Amino acid sequence: MTKFIFVTGGVVSSLGKGIAASSLGALLQARGYSVRLRKLDPYINVDPGTMNPFQHGEVYVTEDGTETDLDLGHYERFTGVCAQTSDSTTTGKIYSAVLTKERRGDYLGATVQVVPHVIDEIKNFITGELANEDFVICEIGGTVGDIESLPFLEAIRQLGNDLGRERTLFIHLTLVPYISAAGELKTKPTQHSVKELLSYGIQPDILLCRSDRPIPQDAKHKLGLFCNVRPERVIEAQDIDTIYQVPMSYHQEGLDWQVCQYFGLKEKTTVDLSKWQNIVHRIRHPEGQVNIAVVGKYTQLLDAYKSLSEALIHAGIAHNVKVNLHWFDSLSQDNFEDKLVGMNGILVPGGFGERGSAGKLQAIKIAREKKIPYFGICFGMQLAVIEAARNLLRLKEASTTEFGPTKDPVIGLMTEWMDGKILQQRTEEGNLGGTMRLGSYPCKLQKGSLAYKIYGDAHIKERHRHRYEVNMNYQDALKKVGLYFSGLSPDEQLPEIIEYTNHPWFIGVQFHPELKSRPFNPHPLFISFIAAALQQERLV
Ligand code: GLN
Repeated sequence: MTKFIFVTGGVVSSLGKGIAASSLGALLQARGYSVRLRKLDPYINVDPGTMNPFQHGEVYVTEDGTETDLDLGHYERFTGVCAQTSDSTTTGKIYSAVLTKERRGDYLGATVQVVPHVIDEIKNFITGELANEDFVICEIGGTVGDIESLPFLEAIRQLGNDLGRERTLFIHLTLVPYISAAGELKTKPTQHSVKELLSYGIQPDILLCRSDRPIPQDAKHKLGLFCNVRPERVIEAQDIDTIYQVPMSYHQEGLDWQVCQYFGLKEKTTVDLSKWQNIVHRIRHPEGQVNIAVVGKYTQLLDAYKSLSEALIHAGIAHNVKVNLHWFDSLSQDNFEDKLVGMNGILVPGGFGERGSAGKLQAIKIAREKKIPYFGICFGMQLAVIEAARNLLRLKEASTTEFGPTKDPVIGLMTEWMDGKILQQRTEEGNLGGTMRLGSYPCKLQKGSLAYKIYGDAHIKERHRHRYEVNMNYQDALKKVGLYFSGLSPDEQLPEIIEYTNHPWFIGVQFHPELKSRPFNPHPLFISFIAAALQQERLV
């Protein structure tokens, strides 16, 4: 029977609950158990798709086409388990489901209330659509004490009773700060946070304590005593240079052992973490380095490019080199030419809107003319087509209809397409939420193309998140100047990959390959891009 582990956070936000949940998932897998990770987000938005990347960070897209929190990306990268629509919910989604049921009359005239209707909806989300996994690790977004997370805490408290404590475990992640004036680590914020959690009826079973230095034994004892947790279940979670070290550090601290003890599971004494050791060793001991320029609008909040940075790190692991990421704000484009000197590769990631696009177009032109390896992802591909149309086809007004009406819409809104057997239809005035081309779509690669060589296959599947598409009507003209569509949708209506015939490495993709890159299985496009950049490094 599936066991449920709930991860809450206390004291402050940004303690890394997502990495903590992912690391525990990886450790349980290393002990031979199957896991599923889920996230409950307290905000009222139905999904993060319409939220500003500056506030929320990256929107992660699942294979089956849901826009989710970036933590689901960590879950996938650490455990290799493909996240699904049923693994992510928000207050907005829960209420939306409850209200739909109410309108349909499903509640048979009952007064619809938070308890039981909203709470039941949350409990159904947590326990529903499972495939008999050994463990579900469920992360509660936000910090204990937030008004928004109350119903989620009530739901997990009730599940403790419904399923029985032998099937439920509560982990609370907190901060143990060092106060330099006192020269001491302080346990009081954790005590208060646990008190708050207790006021909702939840007694944590394990405390995971973030700190910037080792937590002495007496402090652990004190935490255990005041928080009513056994001292061996007060687990230190010290700051670390790479997130991929976290599973091993938790293991050394006995986290997975304590979880198994709690559930009374017969325990393996040796756990093979050599694959983690191996990647951490490669990250810490690179044999070379390469400089990659990432030109984007959201460089002030690097969480907006989480999967992208991880995918580049993974490709570095594959080559045993350090990938130095240089973030260029496309809004301040002075002297781009000078600034990009010394870069071994240029990448323009996904993005939205006209603001900042001029800087990206400049960077693309430099990459094309100077034959610097270029990787354009989604918006980065669309802008590469615009750059070619403006500067090579001399269509000065070539643009995307995303920026407004244009005489030469080389990129335009797709109004109809087939999503499997479903006809999708869109208009310029339609809703913004959840209406992009989302999730996994197949793509056919042209034999002999660089993309085909990289994938080693003519049929691939990649995840999408965009509203606009490259306009097929410009295919012939672009081909004449060396830019061709090397990947198309199976019905040959949608260009999915572009490349230049006369450039060593210039690829634009309509999809987001970074979402599928994993540390143990880096994405072939990123591996190849870094290989080309390494080659370039030798030339500079
Ligand atoms: N803004 C573009 C579109 O919606 C690109 C989106 C993206 O880069 N994810 O088509």
